[in-house]
Amino acid sequence: MNGLMQERQLLISDLIEHAANYHGDQEIVSNLGDGDIHRYTWSAARSRSKQVANLIHSLGVSAGQRVATLAWNTHRHLELYYGVCGTGAVLTTVNPRLFADQVAYILNHSESTHVFFDVGLSGLAEKIAPQCPNVKSFIALCDVGQMPDVDLPGLACYESLIAACRDVYTWPRLDENSALSMCFTSGTTGNPKGVVYSHRSTVLHAMSTCMADCFAISARDSILLIVPMFHVNGWGIPHSSAMAGAKLVLPGTQLSGESVYAMLRDEKCSVSCGVPTVWMSLLDYAQNVDPEQRRRDIVMTRALSGGSAAPRRVIEQLEQYFGAYLCQAWGMTETSPVVTVNVPLAKHSHLTVDERVGLQMLAGRPLPGTEIAVFDHDGNPLARDGRTTGQLKVRGAWVSRAYYKHEHDGWDSDGWFSTGDMATLNADGFLKITDRVKDVIKSGGEWISSLDLESAALSHPAIAEAAVIGLHHSHWQERPLLVAVKQQGMEVTAQDILDHMRRHVAKWWLPDDVVFVDALPHTATGKLYKVALRKQFECFRFSTDIGNA
Ligand code: ADP
Repeated sequence: MNGLMQERQLLISDLIEHAANYHGDQEIVSNLGDGDIHRYTWSAARSRSKQVANLIHSLGVSAGQRVATLAWNTHRHLELYYGVCGTGAVLTTVNPRLFADQVAYILNHSESTHVFFDVGLSGLAEKIAPQCPNVKSFIALCDVGQMPDVDLPGLACYESLIAACRDVYTWPRLDENSALSMCFTSGTTGNPKGVVYSHRSTVLHAMSTCMADCFAISARDSILLIVPMFHVNGWGIPHSSAMAGAKLVLPGTQLSGESVYAMLRDEKCSVSCGVPTVWMSLLDYAQNVDPEQRRRDIVMTRALSGGSAAPRRVIEQLEQYFGAYLCQAWGMTETSPVVTVNVPLAKHSHLTVDERVGLQMLAGRPLPGTEIAVFDHDGNPLARDGRTTGQLKVRGAWVSRAYYKHEHDGWDSDGWFSTGDMATLNADGFLKITDRVKDVIKSGGEWISSLDLESAALSHPAIAEAAVIGLHHSHWQERPLLVAVKQQGMEVTAQDILDHMRRHVAKWWLPDDVVFVDALPHTATGKLYKVALRKQFECFRFSTDIGNA
């Protein structure tokens, strides 16, 4: 027997309709650089999205065909999110920080026929255009007076094009399982792999992330979206903010600590989201602001953090400087991305500050609609005891089931997707990521967590950034090397750091050597790029490696 409920498909066009109809005067603010702040409302965003939808039809793009963006977070990118996808066409958001060859690969692999690009990325567009013969037009996201002086096939001006389109459009009632958008994994090894989100998975993800025990996004929030919209749909915030009718603040290219501080202050943001390095830049800037002024300026209560582990110092300083709570989340491109979120339970209200910060360092608990578990090498599920480390697998309503036009690796017959992360789960289901499978250090048959070592090193006040890699050791097979960047103007020795770390980790885990560098390599998504670091140190010999002397 079927239920007797209406089979209304879950479509993202309903989100912008809801925002415009019931939160029509709620603001969307974009920082276009050089002091140019653009303001309009959800109601205006809907009108312009409808103009985009008409433009997409006039370009001859039909449902299922791909259109790409090379763009930062601005209102125009938001209009493409709704205007392109609302027609049934599929938006491929490309990370402009990738190598040009990878950008070209993504445009070709996704068979994108039109590319909307920010003027600041004209150079990249020019570089890749000859490699992308299927792209019919490059559309610059600007006014006619700002058109770049470049030679690109079908070069056109976004504002001129949409000015010629009507803002009357009826969104088609698509099948909710239709493709919505496509994001690519970073491709630190091999070519990037395409993940294709559906309308249904995106609406369910948005609904879940609005929940009180998730990001708790509401109509009273003002959200600074620092996570790029080319990166896993900006953690779904462009969708969840429309669903909730929240104010949305889009920083464009203005991502320095000073700019982020100014936007949080000027737009009275209550929530923001970013990777830990974003919070570090903000804190670096804010440490020079008078403490009382800081508290008056910043009303942010939640700093959503994910993409890599948040160091203890960042959690503590966000609270100390602004009274903000760092809420850690875990996910990946393949999972839309949010799967786990760290929100305390009732029983945690009695924790000491130190214990509570310890809890905040965990990656959180799974959202309903998703499942996570850790498994041993033979595929047996492991105990949820907070200690036993295994390979993390995930499945759920917004977890991908295949890559786009790619061999079917990563999934087992029960639908579990292998994340490539090593983790523990405790009895309450709190997840702790201990490593990437490929980064874990195997020393004398035991495993050492590089993330725990990095976290211990970062808790020393003189360390700005730390990476731990496992390198060959003739006796132990592998041993940890700590590569660290000192805080500006601070002096510290390797021995000081090791003495400090000794208080946080088992003695046999301590790195055999510490090397100080000026900077560490990062991936296009701002994470430590350990593949490059291992290459940089491939000839390194440990001082403890007598066999190699
Ligand atoms: P995202 O785009 O959300 O950063 P990626 O697919 O680029 O996703 O990377 C996902 C990986 O980032 C995860 O498999 C995990 O290794 C790491 N990661 C994400 N969130 C956390 C977290 N809170 N703590 C530790 N590692 C994390």
